[in-house]
Parts: sequence; C-alpha cells; structure tokens
Amino acid sequence: MTQPDNIDAYEALVQFLYRAPIGMVQTCLDGTVEMLNPMSSNLLMPLVHDGSMDNLFTVLQDAVPQLARMVSAFNAPSGVVCESLRIQLGAAAGPGAPQVLSLSVLKLDGTRLMATVSDATAEVQREQERLARRLKNEARIDTLTRMPNREALLEQLQQILARPRGNTGYALLFMNCDRFRQINDKLGQQAGDRLLVQVSERLRAALRPPSDRIDPGAGGGQLAARIGSDEFAVLLDGMRCREDAERVAARLLDSLSKPHSLAGQEVTCTLSLGMVWSDDAGDAAGEMLRDASIAMIEAKRAGGARCVQFETAMRERAARRADIEADLRLALVEDQLFVVYQPVVGLRADGGTDFNAGVEALVRWQHPQRGVVPPFEFIQVAEESGLIGALGDFVLRRACRDFAAWQRELGTRAPRLLAVNLSRAQLGEAGWPQTVREVLDQNGMQASALQLEVTESLAAQDQQVQQRLHELKAIGITLALDDFGTGYSSLSSLHQLPVDTVKIDRSFVCQADTSHHHQVLIEATVKVAQSLGMSTVAEGIETEAQLAAVRAQQCAKGQGYLFSRPLTSASLLDWLREKMPAPAGGSLSAPAAAPLVALA
Ligand code: C2E
Ligand code: CA
Ligand code: CA
Repeated sequence: MTQPDNIDAYEALVQFLYRAPIGMVQTCLDGTVEMLNPMSSNLLMPLVHDGSMDNLFTVLQDAVPQLARMVSAFNAPSGVVCESLRIQLGAAAGPGAPQVLSLSVLKLDGTRLMATVSDATAEVQREQERLARRLKNEARIDTLTRMPNREALLEQLQQILARPRGNTGYALLFMNCDRFRQINDKLGQQAGDRLLVQVSERLRAALRPPSDRIDPGAGGGQLAARIGSDEFAVLLDGMRCREDAERVAARLLDSLSKPHSLAGQEVTCTLSLGMVWSDDAGDAAGEMLRDASIAMIEAKRAGGARCVQFETAMRERAARRADIEADLRLALVEDQLFVVYQPVVGLRADGGTDFNAGVEALVRWQHPQRGVVPPFEFIQVAEESGLIGALGDFVLRRACRDFAAWQRELGTRAPRLLAVNLSRAQLGEAGWPQTVREVLDQNGMQASALQLEVTESLAAQDQQVQQRLHELKAIGITLALDDFGTGYSSLSSLHQLPVDTVKIDRSFVCQADTSHHHQVLIEATVKVAQSLGMSTVAEGIETEAQLAAVRAQQCAKGQGYLFSRPLTSASLLDWLREKMPAPAGGSLSAPAAAPLVALA
C-alpha cells in the first residue's frame, strides 16, 4: 500500500467517524474522554453543565448516576456493560432537538470503554403509539367474549352516521337474552358466562365474515358487539333494503334459539331483538342505540323471541312508561296505592248464592294528578322495572290485614277465602314463601284461607318457579290458574300444573249464553277440572243470562259486575251485611267471639 493510499484511507475513516449518525465516545475506565465524534457531542451537549466534556461519567452523572458503579462492578476483561439505556432529556433539549437518547457502553479491554449514543426519540414515540393503540383496542374489546364492546360499536356507528348517504342503507340490531337471569341463577355464573360466549360465537358464525373486525370506514361491513351483560348488538352496513336486514335478523334469531349445552344440560335461550333501519335513524349514535333498545323492549313485551322494528311512536310510549315507573316508585313510599276487593260467590247446586265464599284483592293507585289509575296501566311497568316485588308485598300485607279485620267484624259471615294475584318476579326471591308464612302468622290467618292467582305462563314456567309454587302449596296455600283460556292453554296439560282452582276467563264467560262454541269450552273446562279435583270460577259475569249459563255448566263459583264491582274494604263489609243480613237477635259485629280464621 502506498503512502498516499494510506493517507486517503485514514482520511476516509476520519470522515466516516465524523459523519456517523451515531455518537461514539472512547474513554478510560474512569470515564476520561479520549476520543469522541461530533454526533456524540451534539447529542450529549444538553447534559453538559460546566461546558466541559472531559469526563463521560461527569456528563452523565444526573442522567445515569449508576454508570461509574456499573463499570467498576463489571469484572470481565471485555463485554457489554449496559445496552440501550434510555436517557430522557426533557426540558434540557431545545425545541425540535432529540428528547430521548439511547446509551450503550462496551468495555473494549482492561483500560478502555466505548460508549455509543443515539437519538431514540422516534423509536420511543412509535412504542408509545403502539401501546396507546393496544390500550385503546383493549378498552374497546369485551373481555369475556372478545367481541367489540359498546364504545367500539358507538364509534363505528357514529362514522356511518357521519358519512354521506349512498344508495345503500344500514341497520342496527339490539338483542337481549330472554331468560338470562334465571339461567344464571339456576346454573351458576360460570354457566351463564359460557352461555354468553356461545351466543357470541353463534352470532359471529351467523354473520358472514368479516364479522368482528373493528374496521372503520368499511362499507358493507358487519359488526357484532357485546354491549351489556346479556345484550348484544349487530351493525349491518351496506344493506340494499330493510327487508334484507330483516332477513339477517330472522336468521340470527333462528340460529340463537337452538339449544345450548351447558353444565351437562340442554338450555334454550331465546332473544328479543329490536331493529332500527337507517331511514329512521337520527344523527347521533347513542340515540340510535337507544331507539333499538326501545324496540327490543317492545319485542320482550310481546312475549320475547322475536324481532320488532323501531317506530317513532315507540319513543313516546317508552317515555310514558318511564314516567309511570318514576311515579310508581313515589307511590310506593307515599302510600298512594290501595286495595279493593271483588266478591267471588259460590254458585250452589240448589240455585242459591254463597255470598261470602271469598274475594279477590285488586290493587288501585290514587295518583295525585291523574286520579285512580287502573292496574293495566302500571302492573306491566312494575313487572318490567322490578317494582312488582314491593307492590305485591304491599297488596299481600294489606289484604291479609283487612281479611283478619273482616273476621273480627263479621265473624262467620266474613269472606272465607282471600285471592291475591301473583307476579312472576315475586317468585324470583328465594325467601318469598317464608315472607308469606310470616304475613299469615302476623294476621292469625290460616294458610288455607289464602289463594294465590297465577297465570298459565307462570305456572308452566321453569323448574325454579315450579319449586317455589310447590313450597307455597306445602305451607297450605292454594293456587288458582288465572285467565284460563287466554294463553296457550290446553285442557290436556292442565294436570301438569300445580293448581287447585281454574278461573275461566271473562272472554269465554261473556259469550256463555250466546255462543255454542264457548258453552262447549266452558263445559269441557269444568269437566276436566272436576276430574282433576280442581274447582272452577267463572270470571266477569255481567248478566243474569251469563250466570244461568255458567250455573248450567256446574261452575263452582262466579265473579263479576253482576254480583259486585271491586269494593273498598268498608264498602265490602256493607255489601256483605246487605246480602247476608244477620239472623234476628244476632249481633252484626262480634269482635271477641268470632273465630279469627275461617276455612275455605
Ligand atoms: P284479573 O286478575 O283477571 O282481575 C279481574 C279483572 O277483571 C279486574 O280488573 C276486575 O275489575 C275485572 N272485572 C271483574 N268483573 C268484571 C266484569 O264483570 N266485567 C268486566 N268487564 N271486568 C270485570 P282490574 O282490577 O282492572 O285488574 C286487571 C288486572 O290487573 C287483573 O286481572 C290482574 O291481572 C292485574 N292485577 C290487579 N291487581 C293486581 C295485583 O295486586 N297484583 C298483580 N300482580 N296483578 C294485579
Ligand atoms: Ca286475578
Ligand atoms: Ca282473571
């Protein structure tokens, strides 16, 4: 090699080190700087306090105070002392200058160190962005089902709403499991969780892929999300027409209604679905989701396991229900509820009438502005909002208290049976039969004097309900099947229900004298009930002709406006006194002598 060549090579090496985009510093083991390239002084300058870069440890004493110790503790003859240590420059760096440095120190031999310094600002930024993205995605994923959650759904929905309308539409489907709480209570939370995971898997499978991607701006996409404990939503974008969306909804409901295998059992969990089509959507995602949930509630009210399309009139109904619910909450604490009693009379074989056979307790609401509100306006709201438990307890306590008072007042002429309507939610509480027992005891009432009226859909419910009903019967309480003939009633399944009395619905009784068809139905009901040892009550008797007809069919008891409308406790006493005058010389009221309890 010639000398000029050597000089050129040396010059090239110096240039290389001079221009290297990475800082390099060679020092003694005590940090004394022997050589450094311009990039290292650029990068380290913000850390220099006294203008001197003679010693690397001094320059770095604030940022990496442990460096000198690390070097002296490093016993090997050579090797990596530290690698990619992050140094935050923060305020020390000027605007636009590197914010974070990365430092590595290598022990070259027994006397020298080589430190490399680089600008890590962009790298750190990228890391932070990755982390933020991951956190954001995590916050938008439901941990149980790994589906997008409510936030993710709303975000995507908002993007669709903000997009200019093309020639396709979109639909939002809101789904709620019909009996999730019962399944959860009965099989345990783990099984409940598994059910939700299975529902989510079926949803994904039933939608054409890609189903669960959070893919902003994807026209024609479908997004399935879990938005509440047992609530799911599906966003169908790029649909040609409303009917196509309806078809997808029907397909989803069909696939989801197939039985699930849970805890070794076959469990069916149907869903109620509310749908909003793009033409009916406003411009806020939250509003569209709320509208879909309103339609879902309508689907539930109609019996569940179905799809209901949102209509704007539903919003008003929902608001009205919310008003009633708020007012009813107040009514319960402000004592606005009261109970009236409608006589249930015995229809004796000799043509006579047994006026004190019993009464049915019916709740009323004295609304401060609206006057007396009939139960059909608020019972369902109470059931849906969970207020029915408190309402039912109130009716039971008040009715039993009044019943005991009548015994004291009228003695043997007092009603012998008290019928109280029972709602499903009241049977949800495990301790309820015990509560009933206590109320009876408090009023000195025998259990056989209380009859609870249940509807067919309730009596035929799942095992938990059946068990509760049997617990009540074990106390000695009897059960009546209310509104018989209105549900999916079938005479052939009557024997499976744990009831003692069948109440034939008013819709049959009101045609008892005019329609042969209805006469036959009543006759058949009475015969089947008799053969099963059950009693019968004809409801809603309004005319003498109807009464004659049900008597002819040998119905055991009757109830209706012909005998009496529902009465307050005081009016009921008057009515009984009028219908059953005290025997001559007898006393109208015999508080001390009268038995507290009369048998049914
Ligand atoms: P229901 O149990 O079938 O009660 C009988 C309903 O028929 C009562 O209406 C009663 O006033 C009415 N009715 C009786 N006789 C006649 C008649 O001859 N003609 C006509 N047109 N109607 C008659 P009400 O009091 O409005 O109660 C309606 C429903 O509200 C009840 O039907 C029952 O399902 C529910 N309900 C009432 N009170 C309670 C309660 O305390 N708890 C629960 N869970 N439900 C209740
Ligand atoms: Ca009833
Ligand atoms: Ca009824």
